[in-house]
Amino acid sequence: MKRLENHITIITGAGRGIGETTALKFASEGATVVVVDLNEADINHVVESIQKLEGKAIGILCNVTDREQVNNLIEKTVATYGRIDSVINNAGITADSTLVKMEEQQFDSVIDVNLKGVFNVGQRTAQVMKEQKSGVILNASSVVGLYGNFGQTNYAATKWGVIGMTKSWAKELGKHHVRVNCVAPGFIMTPMTEKMPDKVLDMMSGKSPLGRLGTPEDIANAYAFLASSEASFITGTVLSVDGGVVT
Ligand code: NAP
Repeated sequence: MKRLENHITIITGAGRGIGETTALKFASEGATVVVVDLNEADINHVVESIQKLEGKAIGILCNVTDREQVNNLIEKTVATYGRIDSVINNAGITADSTLVKMEEQQFDSVIDVNLKGVFNVGQRTAQVMKEQKSGVILNASSVVGLYGNFGQTNYAATKWGVIGMTKSWAKELGKHHVRVNCVAPGFIMTPMTEKMPDKVLDMMSGKSPLGRLGTPEDIANAYAFLASSEASFITGTVLSVDGGVVT
């Protein structure tokens, strides 16, 4: 039997990058994946890739900042599968600028997706999981949430905030048998980091004792472990998957 057989998971921002790889990983472990993204073509591509590998997936368009769309996502999932075993709050954006130059819109947009979006999806999912008395909520933090980063006031605030929400939810939901954890990736090669200058990426890989950037598979493996019963006594934690980055 596969590790995530009969497991229903929702993955936000699953149209590309870490979310896409995590969707493929969960499907390969036997899970049925609800692929969530803003972009329909990306969703269809991921759902088709999973189905080609004989995995199970459906796609649902949803902007995590829109509470009505989030409500629809959760209701459709429960109507289709009857329950939600895990959710991965992976959708996230950057809008970098130094503190003195950052526009209000840059600050607000990142807070809206990375913090409010996690709250929106986490809250609706928790309502379902509390009723069913089981479930796992996994949130995407970042090494930047732990150590800060030049030019990422907005992003660092959200990723630190995600840790606070994770620990609070773990305390509230533990008695309902719902586990809540977050993963703090280091610098991972995805479309998000492709925008960064080579100089910065070289510096980041130099900060890891392992001397490399991470891969989306490194993060997908951590999510799959935390969602599985192998992690049944782990809640309220931040799992750093960053190659031992030293600031
Ligand atoms: P990515 O390649 O930019 O992918 C992010 C995905 O999220 C995209 O498919 C994007 O859709 C989707 N998305 C953005 N806003 C959304 C919204 N409002 N509602 C629904 N979906 C939305 O990012 P990534 O590098 O894979 O990162 C995934 C997560 O890991 C993020 O939370 C990120 O902060 C975190 N993380 C990444 C790294 C890294 O080095 N890559 C490090 C630490 C943490 P569109 O394509 O349609 O815009």
